[in-house]
Amino acid sequence: MGRLEGNVAVVTAAGQGIGKAIADRFAAEGAVVHASDINGELLTNPGFASRQVLDVTDGEAIAEYAETVGPINTLCNVAGFVHHGTVLQASDDDWDFSFDLNVKSMHRMIRAFLPGMLVKRSSNEQPGASIMNMSSGASSLKGAPNRYIYGATKAAVIGLTKAIAADFASDGLRCNAICPGTVESPSWRARVDALGDQMGSVEAAHADFVARQPMGRVAKASEIAGLAVYLASDESAFVTGSCYKIDGGWTL
Ligand code: NAD
Repeated sequence: MGRLEGNVAVVTAAGQGIGKAIADRFAAEGAVVHASDINGELLTNPGFASRQVLDVTDGEAIAEYAETVGPINTLCNVAGFVHHGTVLQASDDDWDFSFDLNVKSMHRMIRAFLPGMLVKRSSNEQPGASIMNMSSGASSLKGAPNRYIYGATKAAVIGLTKAIAADFASDGLRCNAICPGTVESPSWRARVDALGDQMGSVEAAHADFVARQPMGRVAKASEIAGLAVYLASDESAFVTGSCYKIDGGWTL
């Protein structure tokens, strides 16, 4: 029997990288998974209960989606974008785009799904209600070079997470943040390639990323999925408002 039997879960940005690893693992653990991504072609797992094209910056689409899906146990907010640069390379539009996609999207998703989660939770049946939000080591945990806007958004995710946790702990709804270090994913590969162009070789860029990690490697997305399963399941029933560093020692 899987660790998430009976659990109904929604995962955003489930098309690739960390979101895909989480959605695939949730399904493998027996959850009913409603997977969404702005790029529907990436949602290929036939084991998902539904595969939805969803832009998490579209509040109306999210509200409709929540109606269609109905009450859930687990909401996993993964969608996010990495802006590269210092404050001097950050336009107002860059700032607004990242905050919309990385932070306000979570506000929209939580506002739409939380009422149904509370209704499901009030039946007092297991599994409980769990929200997890993808933050990063580059947040209030660590100032990382060229992650000015990104770090600000991911710090905001931690604040949002704690506020939700505080407001709904007595209702039995838990809300936690996941703070990865560098994780192998398609967009990370693109960042390595871009840095490689600047440094003269992709190998040098890759080595530069790896050198930041005390463990001498970047994470696999499946390692983040393992933490997400724990947070979705009742194994973590007493955990709320936490920021889980999963970074190979990067923020030490
Ligand atoms: P990725 O960046 O490779 O993929 C992102 C996915 O999000 C894609 O499938 C894309 O289609 C989807 N997406 C983009 N815009 C969207 C929108 N408006 N609505 C819905 N979906 C949208 O994946 P990743 O690198 O695993 O990153 C996933 C999350 O993890 C992000 O929030 C990122 O900030 C965070 N994170 C990543 C790393 C890392 O090193 N990869 C480290 C820490 C945190």
